[in-house]
Amino acid sequence: MRRTTLFFAATLVLVGCASAPEKAIVNGTASALGGADKILAVNTLVIEGTGENGNLGQSQNPDALNVLKVTESKRYIDFAGGRQRLEQTRIATFGAPNPQPQKQNLGLDGDVAYNVAANGTATRAAAQVAKDRRMELYHYPIGALRAALGAGAQLSNPRKEGGEDAVDIATAQGDKFTLFVDSGTKLPSKVVSMTSNNINWPIGDATLETDFANYTDVNGLKLPGRITSKTDKFTTADIQVSKNTVNGDVGNLAAPDAAKSAAAPDLPPPMVTSEEIAKGVWYLAGQSHHSVLVEFNDYLALIEAPQNEARTGAVLAKVKELRPGKPLKYVVNTHHHFDHSGGVRRAMVEDGVTLITHAGNKEFFEEIAKRPSTMYPDLFSKAPKAPTIQTVTDKYELKDASRTLEIYHIPNVHSETMLIVYFPAERLLVEADLFNPPAPPAANAPPPAPNAPPPAAPFSPSVVQTVQKLGLRVDRIVPIHGPIVPYRDLQAAAARQQTS
Ligand SMILES: [Zn+2]
Repeated sequence: MRRTTLFFAATLVLVGCASAPEKAIVNGTASALGGADKILAVNTLVIEGTGENGNLGQSQNPDALNVLKVTESKRYIDFAGGRQRLEQTRIATFGAPNPQPQKQNLGLDGDVAYNVAANGTATRAAAQVAKDRRMELYHYPIGALRAALGAGAQLSNPRKEGGEDAVDIATAQGDKFTLFVDSGTKLPSKVVSMTSNNINWPIGDATLETDFANYTDVNGLKLPGRITSKTDKFTTADIQVSKNTVNGDVGNLAAPDAAKSAAAPDLPPPMVTSEEIAKGVWYLAGQSHHSVLVEFNDYLALIEAPQNEARTGAVLAKVKELRPGKPLKYVVNTHHHFDHSGGVRRAMVEDGVTLITHAGNKEFFEEIAKRPSTMYPDLFSKAPKAPTIQTVTDKYELKDASRTLEIYHIPNVHSETMLIVYFPAERLLVEADLFNPPAPPAANAPPPAPNAPPPAAPFSPSVVQTVQKLGLRVDRIVPIHGPIVPYRDLQAAAARQQTS
């Protein structure tokens, strides 16, 4: 009898332990940070620091991000209220000469994400932005632990990965992330979650990872002195913390009325216009990012598959409407920036398409074709395949008896992998981002202010230099952004740039 009792007692202890490893990780790290009570008592936090930001999706080459120096960063967090605001000043270390400091004011109030411009105008950001900013609250030790210790949190899959203990956490609201803890110190080493997007986002599902280092003592808590954020393999922020203020004044973190009362902006339905700008050449415009369709005797070529599946899908539908039955053989990508490559997966769905891009983008697009996109499932996910890629180093020609297209690499500081497309017979030049002609003013627009300076076009001189060097004869600029203009408009913009 005694033996049986002991046996049952031992079994109960073991059953009690079966759910314990994940709890043990959370409880251990809570103790290491200063104790669950102290963590749950942190209602607000102000994190100040300096560091660097990486310019995701707009870098000069596809392998590493361009860096903006963050001269001042203040992050106000209201953990209890689900609000936060990031106010920072940053300055580019790349691109156009004489970069000006940019002030950012990025907020979250519940499910309302908003941005406040320098002039005080608040606009609401997309639902995906709100989701990403809500996740940022968990991408910090206090926020992660508050969620893990909170009512309704589900802890699962405790495991060891190298020198770290990991546990998956699902909050009562359904947000999911993984907390990694240093097995020795028990301090959080990183938080990882997943993100994606359906606009200007060629990379499908991507990890968001925030690393914590250099823990210091603040009011009996241990808080990280260095916070490094990555999207996929790209470092998007690296902040050295100079000051933490626990439960201090965070000001008013409520979303401004203008943002709160507005609907979260959604993707506008794609609208594709077509204009035959030379025989067998159609300008496919209608929104922010244009494409150009070119007809050869036996096939078609399309310049640019921009933004996303919806835009590029609509462009491809227009191509089929304009030239039914003729196969699309080539899609030219001007450069790797996310807004210009976001529709490439959609273009790859088409049978027999070869992607023409700069040699520096080959691995980028090969990887894009391998990536899952489960959060925003696309057509390519249903039938993924290895892409056919024709790389361009300096020059590539598409030519048949009917016409010639000359595709050139153009040296510039906007993107190292930039291509322009020249039509020698038609004297057209297609370019992206190097010169965005301003749209003509609307009929009812007020007259422009006298002596108002024309918009800067910092990359336009690179076009003039390349046109001169290659001896191209250009009559019209066919831009991916903005209206078609005479080449002299670009020359004038470049001249102003060089004298300013
Ligand atoms: Zn660009």
